[in-house]
Amino acid sequence: MHDTYCSLPFREVTINNGDVLQPCCQNYSHQILINESFEKSFNTGQLEKVRKQMLAGEIVNGCDQCYREEVAGIESMRQRSVKKYGNVENIEIHAIQIQFDNLCNLKCRMCSSANSHLLYDDELKILGKPISPKKFVASTTHNDIDKTHLKEIKLFGGEPLISPRAQEFVKDMVLSNEISKVVVSTYTNGTVLPTDYILEAFKKCRFLDLNVSIDGVGHLNEYIRGKSDFNEIVKNLKFYSSLIDSRPKQSTTIGISTVVNVYNVNKLKELDQFITKEFSQFELEKKFLSYPEFLRISCLPKEYKNIIKHAVQDYPEVLQFLNKDDNNYFEEFIFYNNSVDKLTGHSLKDVNLELAEYIENYKSKKEISNQHVRKFYPVIDLRSSND
Ligand code: SF4
Repeated sequence: MHDTYCSLPFREVTINNGDVLQPCCQNYSHQILINESFEKSFNTGQLEKVRKQMLAGEIVNGCDQCYREEVAGIESMRQRSVKKYGNVENIEIHAIQIQFDNLCNLKCRMCSSANSHLLYDDELKILGKPISPKKFVASTTHNDIDKTHLKEIKLFGGEPLISPRAQEFVKDMVLSNEISKVVVSTYTNGTVLPTDYILEAFKKCRFLDLNVSIDGVGHLNEYIRGKSDFNEIVKNLKFYSSLIDSRPKQSTTIGISTVVNVYNVNKLKELDQFITKEFSQFELEKKFLSYPEFLRISCLPKEYKNIIKHAVQDYPEVLQFLNKDDNNYFEEFIFYNNSVDKLTGHSLKDVNLELAEYIENYKSKKEISNQHVRKFYPVIDLRSSND
């Protein structure tokens, strides 16, 4: 099969916030608002066009993260999908990934109000206009999907563990015990524990694939993932550790998922050492931040890339991504970083001295405004058409 082919639009449904369908969680270029039936929106229009392009070996708009990772020698989501499902050409829904809403208890620096309602007011102050058209956005059409043949459910937020819609979604499956036949996967920020039906789903599902997003040790994580408390996260990791022990053998994967970005690229080792020492049964996963580009490591200045090379010697994939030729958006990064620091009262010096000192000595060549920085975020239009 062609190397632009991906199994996901044939096997998985991705519903983003506000009932928006897209080919996968990474491709924002083919968003369709479900305004008639779910079936019609999923089987026709834009998604049908994407499937045809993939089968014909054409480049698909919005799949650039996969293409970029593959060029850098990193296994992409596209490649993993082909391993998982094979080169299938018919539509058969095996998995559903739902972003229930943008309800979140944190303000991560690489996030936007599309994924955390708490960032809405901050964006108004920093960018002049929020990214999300509304402070709270939720999905409802996932309730129309027949769950009886699903093999996997992926719960996303915001923070899915505080979402009442996520609770509601798993409730029927828990009560009917259908949950015992499915894989449950999710990403949580680790600051809250599962309760009620979600907790039951975690205990009773066929396979649990739980990922805790942590980007640094201690204050670095708190700086990047604003409003988080690292000690609380460590306490919760102990709970997850006990969850592995309480479930049938080899039916649980708990991963620490780190989003590699400008703030933590030179601090990955500290985090890995901490997790390996304290929670050796957890897996370590690294994801590369693509957007906003000014937080993408390949968009750092060459000089800084050379300075921090020492810190990523043991991470060949990171080194490769870091060294990739890309645009330099450091001025935009400085503008954004200073604006967030001013608003939160936090200081980069306290968590990443190497980066803070480099900023201090950096000779900016461009004048940056908030309008300029806002252009780095996708325009979210909840009226997308399916033509
Ligand atoms: S190729 Fe990558 S970006 Fe495109 S649909 Fe597949 S996983 Fe998503």
